[in-house]
Amino acid sequence: METFTYTAHPSRIVFGSGTVAHLPAEVDRLGGSRALLIASDRHRAPVAAALGDRVVADFADAAMHTPVDVTDRALILAQDRGVDIVVAVGGGSAVGLSKALAARAGYPQAVVPTTYAGSEVTPVLGETENGVKTTRSGPEILPETVVYDVDLTRGLPAGLTVVSAVNALAHAVEALYSRDANPATSAVAVEAVERLSRGVRTVSVAPTDLDGRTDLLVGAWLAGTCLASAGMGLHHKLCHVLGGSFGMPHAPTHTVILPHAMRYNAEAAPAAMARVAAALGVDDAPRGVFDLVTAVDGPTGLTQFGFTADDVPRAVEIAMRQQYPNPAALTSEGLTRLLTNAVEGRRP
Ligand code: NAD
Repeated sequence: METFTYTAHPSRIVFGSGTVAHLPAEVDRLGGSRALLIASDRHRAPVAAALGDRVVADFADAAMHTPVDVTDRALILAQDRGVDIVVAVGGGSAVGLSKALAARAGYPQAVVPTTYAGSEVTPVLGETENGVKTTRSGPEILPETVVYDVDLTRGLPAGLTVVSAVNALAHAVEALYSRDANPATSAVAVEAVERLSRGVRTVSVAPTDLDGRTDLLVGAWLAGTCLASAGMGLHHKLCHVLGGSFGMPHAPTHTVILPHAMRYNAEAAPAAMARVAAALGVDDAPRGVFDLVTAVDGPTGLTQFGFTADDVPRAVEIAMRQQYPNPAALTSEGLTRLLTNAVEGRRP
């Protein structure tokens, strides 16, 4: 007998190639006419050209983990210019700033993701202040409209592509063994694993391949919807500790930790692991993810990001402070083994 509670988070999704051209209509649809455009130089031109004089303010300084002082500056600019909508183009950092502004001032949002982080379809905002990262959630944080334009992702460098895709993969994997797992998120998660693993392999040999990039961006969207509706476990919590307390980069940390977190949970979540393994076309899910990462030259050890064996005890202590739902019980010994293996980049 299955028992579950499922909350969907409504977003309007516009997906395709060349879809930036739809942005003016999407902005109009949201009732906006004075946009703050959050974009780095890399992405600004096509979006600014499409929106024309709807853009009344520009902000290029979005930063990872959404520092509150950056949001303060963007908010002052938006208020000075009489902004009535936020348009963000970029990775999770640009989208995070857009969500932070919506949380503060209620702006509607149209966002154009250029990585596979998936934040655009979640009602969750993580912010940092004085070195501490806190998260909160609410319907006002969720962007109303997401415009996925595959063309903007075709130039994502190989290294970033791999780690961002595995960041997405982690959302799907943890959704499958989440306490909130349900038939909807599980079906979506399996499709996400298939798309992401196929896409990573395709673009590793043909970086601009439209089908490969489409698989990755569809996979990222699906995985993001899993993240939005199913509570995450050990993997996401550990990455949160490593990012928040050790300054580790978001997506590369996910890439190194995922196979080890999966090994930790494998015995306690055999059905989820079997579904991941089948979607990857392998016998053993944790090893399948590790081998996928190495096959496309992704990172496997934490030391290359400055985290060493000496940091393990403090990370374990912080991770053990808070208990949270996870298939396998959390123990200091288990987490020490997990992180030591991740430091050394061992095959799980
Ligand atoms: P990011 O947005 O910082 O981007 C990483 C780098 O890639 C940046 O230098 C960026 O300029 C560059 N870049 C982005 N798109 C590019 C492209 N198409 N071509 C070339 N370069 C490109 O990193 P991210 O991994 O996308 O996002 C991480 C942030 O998102 C973190 O702050 C994380 O906490 C947050 N996040 C939040 C959620 C959520 O649901 N709240 C989910 C996932 C991630």
